[in-house]
Amino acid sequence: MPINCHLYPCRSDNYGVLVRDEATGQVALIDVPEEMATREAIEATGWTPTHIFITHHHGDHIDGVGGIRSSYDVEVVGNAADKARLPRLTRDVTPGDTVMLGETPFEIIDTPGHTVGHIAYVSRPEKTAFAGDTLFALGCGRLFEGTADQMHASLQTLAALDPETRIYCGHEYTLANARFAVAMDPDSSTLADHARQIEGRRAAGLPTIPTTLKTELAFNPFLRAKDAADFARLRAAKDNF
Ligand code: ZN
Ligand code: FE
Repeated sequence: MPINCHLYPCRSDNYGVLVRDEATGQVALIDVPEEMATREAIEATGWTPTHIFITHHHGDHIDGVGGIRSSYDVEVVGNAADKARLPRLTRDVTPGDTVMLGETPFEIIDTPGHTVGHIAYVSRPEKTAFAGDTLFALGCGRLFEGTADQMHASLQTLAALDPETRIYCGHEYTLANARFAVAMDPDSSTLADHARQIEGRRAAGLPTIPTTLKTELAFNPFLRAKDAADFARLRAAKDNF
């Protein structure tokens, strides 16, 4: 049986996601950016959280964890290597581990770069990835702690997933990312068309998430970087764009 995902916007430009394993009714929160917005999403769906999957330690991804855990009996999953600066975990995981949400497996993928302890949660059978602040629609996370080499390798790991994989990310940055992508590749009419679709969705107040890996492989300049040096050059150009 499949999973269902409910995406909700919160804070200024964050997204949280509720993921429900339909076979068992187990529900994971992908990060808890803000307690109240997450509570509203829980009410709106009627889904009771059983798990929290933490991608990384930044406040806009963990601030609501304590509040939610005071009301719900949840398994709190996070990277063992980063446990000192995460909320108290009930299940610390290591890249390569698989966490079950009911009948649905999620593989823990090491994705350092934005932070050194960042991980992604990937369900291969469901072709769904929760990439946190590593891969964004048409962009990627800033290098707060890791190196360009690390981020390039993390992005290439995600790029090797099934192209049909749906990618959920932690922020709605797509419009600004699209402008940068177009500036890097001004002659591509297919990219220009894609950027116009994004403008239309944002103008209508609609999310651009999830994207698909296939779309990102076609248009995301950071996934298309030739090597780590090319990636580093692009990331620096975006930081000053
Ligand atoms: Zn972050
Ligand atoms: Fe973030």
